[in-house]
Amino acid sequence: MTADPWLRRATIDLAAYRANLSSLIERLAPVEVLAIVKADAYSLGLETIVPEALAAGIRWFGTVESEPALRLRRAGVGDEASFFAWQLGPHEDFSAAVEFRVDLGISTMEQLEAFAAAARAAGPGHEALVHLTVDTGLHREGCLLIDWPALVGRAVELRDEGVVRLRGAFSHVSETSEADDHAASLVFIEALEQAAALGATFEKRHMSSSSAGMEHPERRFDMVRMGSNGYGNPVTEGVTAADRGLRPVLTLSARVAKTKRVAAGTGVSYDYTYRVDRETTLALVPIGYADGVSRQAQHGAEVAVNGTRYPIVGRVAMDQFLIDVGDDTVEVGDEVILFGPGDRGELTIGEWADVTGTIPEEVSCRVGPRVPRVYVGGTA
Ligand SMILES: *Cc1c(COP(=O)(O)O)cnc(C)c1O
Repeated sequence: MTADPWLRRATIDLAAYRANLSSLIERLAPVEVLAIVKADAYSLGLETIVPEALAAGIRWFGTVESEPALRLRRAGVGDEASFFAWQLGPHEDFSAAVEFRVDLGISTMEQLEAFAAAARAAGPGHEALVHLTVDTGLHREGCLLIDWPALVGRAVELRDEGVVRLRGAFSHVSETSEADDHAASLVFIEALEQAAALGATFEKRHMSSSSAGMEHPERRFDMVRMGSNGYGNPVTEGVTAADRGLRPVLTLSARVAKTKRVAAGTGVSYDYTYRVDRETTLALVPIGYADGVSRQAQHGAEVAVNGTRYPIVGRVAMDQFLIDVGDDTVEVGDEVILFGPGDRGELTIGEWADVTGTIPEEVSCRVGPRVPRVYVGGTA
């Protein structure tokens, strides 16, 4: 055992993150890449991730709700960048959004009037940075096409008054099928044409996230909102990060806390859902579902120790699980990699997501607060 006492950790490769973003910026140019940093940057740590994205050349960020954007602005981070939020609360602080120049996705007349009123109240030199949001089929945020002309018409009046700036036209697709997404893009184009007829042009038209942004250049418009691809997570079925020239940023690991030689027939973990069929060595891995290891992981997930994969056996508990290492020599303190870039025999986050019945984004977001984030390759 070394002196460093860590039990579990999430290692975040910031050099890989920057390289992924730089390569996406280069491949999509002249289309703008907006980095999605919602949910604490997919749990990797907003305050650390954003400066790295800035260093890679990103000038647009998406935060979902406005609070993280306001927090960054107040801390003076990303003064030169734009922050876009589109999930507005029932008591949205439009004055703060005006004061701190946060772009908002606006779906309703009420939101538009309130945002414009806040800009008017703030006085000359202040404007509401508006992305008019159209529902092209996902039925989350966005106004239906039937309500669109009225919303656009009013936004044009407010623009002419000098209180609204038409920063964007925004939508999001369902990723159901090629036909459904194509239909959604036609609705978006229709909305843009209607807006143009009403005198509205937008600085940034955007409807695609990672998957659509890579697969369908015709749906990139002026900007693509990249979350998963930046973090090196594949999001298109059958496509790996390596196929895309991307590198997974997140590695989840723990250290063997104990090993135990047990006899054939021994039951393992809660409920004895697994019994060893021969004399073998069990190794205790101190990371559990509180840390984001799904209980589904017992059904096929394997972890890597010293370059060899071993199955998770028996129930995953809140704080730990067991692996069956047979007659191999595995020692207390050895690093157990649950998932990572795949260089040391471990599953990638995409493979981990497949065996645990979910998607890489969820795996990333579920890494629990108890797991220390260890950053490598940072610019700071
Ligand atoms: C989460 C989200 C994204 C990013 O999606 P990825 O597939 O992770 O790139 C983009 N746009 C919106 C509106 C989102 O909610």
